[in-house]
Order: sequence, then C-alpha cells, then structure tokens
Amino acid sequence: MTLDHKTGCLICGEELVYTKDLAPLECSYCHEIYDSNAKCKNGHYVCDRCHSLPAVDLIENYCVTSKSEDPLELALTLMRSPNVKMHGPEHHFLVPAVLLAAYYNIKKDYKEKATKIRMAKKRSSQILGGFCGFYGNCGAAVGTGIFVSLITDATPLSVTDWKLANLITAKSLLTIAEHGGPRCCKRTTFLALLEAADFVKEHFGVSFNINKELKCEFYPLNNECLQEKCPFHP
Ligand SMILES: [Zn+2]
Ligand SMILES: [Zn+2]
Repeated sequence: MTLDHKTGCLICGEELVYTKDLAPLECSYCHEIYDSNAKCKNGHYVCDRCHSLPAVDLIENYCVTSKSEDPLELALTLMRSPNVKMHGPEHHFLVPAVLLAAYYNIKKDYKEKATKIRMAKKRSSQILGGFCGFYGNCGAAVGTGIFVSLITDATPLSVTDWKLANLITAKSLLTIAEHGGPRCCKRTTFLALLEAADFVKEHFGVSFNINKELKCEFYPLNNECLQEKCPFHP
C-alpha cells in the first residue's frame, strides 16, 4: 500500500486527478491555500513546498498546524510522505513532535505547542542515526523522554519531573528491546507512541484519541521486517 504512496496521493495513496483549471486548494501538511490543478480522488492536495522540504521541517510544519489529537494518526500521515525515509534519524524528532502536537491540541494551547515542538527539534537533532545499535538507546525511546521533559519543563535539577522523563524513556526502551532487533524505525516509533499514550494517561490524566488497531503499511519497504513476529504486521 505504501508503495502506492510513492506515485499516488501522499496522504491516502489514491490516484491523482488533474483538472483543466486552477482552483484554490488547502495543503494537507501546512494548511496553506494554493492554486493547483492536482488533487487525489479523496480531495487531498500537497503543496510543492511541502513536497520538497527536509523531513524534519515537514514534521515540524505539519505538527504545528494539525489539530489532530491522535499521535499515531499524525505519525502515519508523516511516514507516508517520501520525505520521511523507511529508516532514519528523522524518527527521533517525529516521536516527540507528534506527541507534543496531540498533547497540546487536546489542551488547545497552540502557542505552547509550537514553542515546544521547536525545542524538541533542537534536542532530537543531537540523537545520531544508528543510536539504537551503537549506543543501546533507540532514538524513538529517547524521543518519548524529550516529550515528557518538555511538557513538565524538566531540567537536570528537577525532582519528580526528572523521574518522569527518565521513566518514560525506560518504559518505551524496555518494550522496544523486548521485541528484538534488527532496527525498524516504524516498529520502534509505534511501540514508543503506544507506551507514551499509556504513560500520559496514568501520570497526567490526558487521554489521546488513539487507534490501537494499528497495522503497518511500510513492511514492503523494509528488507529486515520481522514479519509475523512484529505486532504491527498485517
Ligand atoms: Zn488522498
Ligand atoms: Zn504545504
């Protein structure tokens, strides 16, 4: 299915339809209005700018403008974009970005959301590619720690918030480790987001509107897919 997204609509995979005349269309990523004559059968349109942005900029713009309260839905839409590779360090930012977006969308605090997403982008840029296998610390798990650190304004001197930020990394890393290698940035991202969803409910009383019947669309692109050993394999 994802392979379709490489030629069809980036949002849903449907065929693109071209109209003779230009019409104002809202970009599904940045929500700006542009005149275009190309949209998919379901009405999705992606502007040229979003089409060619580096992955981390696309993730930032989309999470700042989207009103979704489901971090998994946000992650899936971003993963369908060819800007986001099958594996890559952009997932280290994707995890805290979609969590911050959903969290502050529920609180309707859009100004704080934009500030915190910008901070997450800076912090996650320090997590190198291959961190999972080389440092024993998957960047998707670190991303959940960045998320909790940012929503609590934790610092190295914090007491409870210091504990919570480290605890969420520990919990998501444990789940990720127990599912075994090799690396899959989709599997570890999904596991980290599901763990974070339970965590914010328990510790912050915030319920993400999450679809737990998640099926991975990306396995045809992953040569090392665990297949039926992966909980998200369809
Ligand atoms: Zn579409
Ligand atoms: Zn756009």
